[in-house]
Amino acid sequence: MTVPIDRTAWSLPSQRSGGQYDEGATEYEGIACKCRRCESSFVLTPERQKIAYEVEKKYVWWIPSFCGRCQSEFQGLSERARSFQRQWNTSRSSLSSSETFLREWLIVLQAISPYWGSNAMCVHVERVLADLKRMRMASLPAEHKRSTA
Ligand SMILES: [Zn+2]
Repeated sequence: MTVPIDRTAWSLPSQRSGGQYDEGATEYEGIACKCRRCESSFVLTPERQKIAYEVEKKYVWWIPSFCGRCQSEFQGLSERARSFQRQWNTSRSSLSSSETFLREWLIVLQAISPYWGSNAMCVHVERVLADLKRMRMASLPAEHKRSTA
């Protein structure tokens, strides 16, 4: 099955650049890609390109960074990370003393940082967790005294 190129549906920058295709090209061809995470090879299909460049108006040099499996794993992790972030934004004061919440959030962030190419949020949550532990340690003798009094 051939997938014709409709350049008029491309974004203007794409039309100017032409991307992978020279002026004479009339059909999309599979593009070989490599997953940035698991390094497996996969093909960006002509059908996917038509949607990406003509419907989603992605720049015509765009190719996916991740294979299908890593991409769907990334989406799942992103949703969980967003949910943790939302909870944090609304109840920061109570959650900053919840070791369970912070630990679970950190696990998701650690799994997602190779995708983000950054672990800034990881470092932040690690710091909150460390502060919490320090505070717990500092308050331990006092609590201990009270409970044994
Ligand atoms: Zn992959």
